[in-house]
Amino acid sequence: MMLDYNSLLLALGFSAICLLVALFATWASRRSDSFMLTWVVSLALTIVGIFCYSAYTLEAGLVIGAISYFFIMAGFSVMYAAGCQFRSGRSPLRVSLVAGSIVMLLGLPAMLMGYDGISIIVMNVTTAVLLTAAAREYWLVRHEAPGPLVGMASLYATAGVSFALCAFVLIRDQQWVIGHAPQNWAEKLNIAICIASMTGVGAFSLALHQWRLAAFHRREALTDPLTGLLNRRAVFEEFGTVRIDQSTAVIVFDIDRFKSINDQHGHAAGDMVIRAFAEEMKVKAERDTVARLGGEEFVVIVRNVLPGRAERIAERIRRGFAERMIAVGEKSVSCTASAGVAFGAAEGRSFDAVLNLADGALYEAKRAGRNRVEVAGFLHAIDLDEVRTSA
Ligand code: GH3
Ligand code: MG
Ligand code: MG
Repeated sequence: MMLDYNSLLLALGFSAICLLVALFATWASRRSDSFMLTWVVSLALTIVGIFCYSAYTLEAGLVIGAISYFFIMAGFSVMYAAGCQFRSGRSPLRVSLVAGSIVMLLGLPAMLMGYDGISIIVMNVTTAVLLTAAAREYWLVRHEAPGPLVGMASLYATAGVSFALCAFVLIRDQQWVIGHAPQNWAEKLNIAICIASMTGVGAFSLALHQWRLAAFHRREALTDPLTGLLNRRAVFEEFGTVRIDQSTAVIVFDIDRFKSINDQHGHAAGDMVIRAFAEEMKVKAERDTVARLGGEEFVVIVRNVLPGRAERIAERIRRGFAERMIAVGEKSVSCTASAGVAFGAAEGRSFDAVLNLADGALYEAKRAGRNRVEVAGFLHAIDLDEVRTSA
């Protein structure tokens, strides 16, 4: 036996309640993705609307019709606002109010004046527009999590089309005044699509949430909290297994006599100096990979270097840092750093080997009096690498 329309409507209402609970629990666990809360609000409004509409299908009346219209359309307006919020990060309040008011003005008066058919046509058309607009919002940011976002956009768009079909059938049949809930093939198709998309959107939203969470943790794992630079792990993940040719340079830095900064001004002052050095690097090597290897040691990896460029970058950072006055509490301190530069080789060199060469050059810079840049010698470089590969 086929389920009647009202049973399908109730099924939709109950599955929406389950989705609401799941989304609310997910939002509550972290309270950061606030667009999820907007989804919950839109679901809550829609659910109230669905149950009112279910009552309307059993016994039509202008008042219950108007109440259904109000809640369903408020739900879809907020649903669209959630999409905008997801894309822009802005508060959903304004979009909800503007979209909601327009939709109410368009369709509620007709219902209250007895033109229930016109009101339901407006309801279907505006819902189609809101769902398509929401689909567009998710589509535009699909690069963030292609799977779930393209999935959501397609489901919203499909549901939008099914509402447009309902409007089409009513207009074709000139159903301006009906006196009961419309019953035709488009309505049945619409409810089936709504149940399917509701489930699908629910699954995709949870997947999206997981996706965002994973991306957040991943970013966190690769970022140095003090400076916001990449950390050692990030550098080794990117370069640890690739062969480095001579078009890539590695510059290592170590702040000079850093222990004395800590001793004289305290650990917090030391941290300020580390941050100041990171700032200098970000500005002077903005196109290159910049990372904090640990403590007061940093690295810049320069790709596609023309002769002399790596040395110039190292020198610019060294000079810029030496000229900086770093505010620590009431006082300000100045500090210097030393650098070692090394290159890959035509036949390829492991990143570890190049880093060691740069470290050797850094050691030379320290020995030669600090506050200077040294470049790893070519012969010395080959020797070290051969030692490593033959070992
Ligand atoms: P050199 O010129 O030879 O490099 O002398 P140095 O004093 O800088 O010597 P070294 O590089 O060995 O000293 C590193 C010091 O940095 C040791 C440690 O106490 C300090 N340090 C390491 N990590 C941090 C940090 O995150 N914050 C602060 N404030 N100090 C740190
Ligand atoms: Mg050090
Ligand atoms: Mg040092």
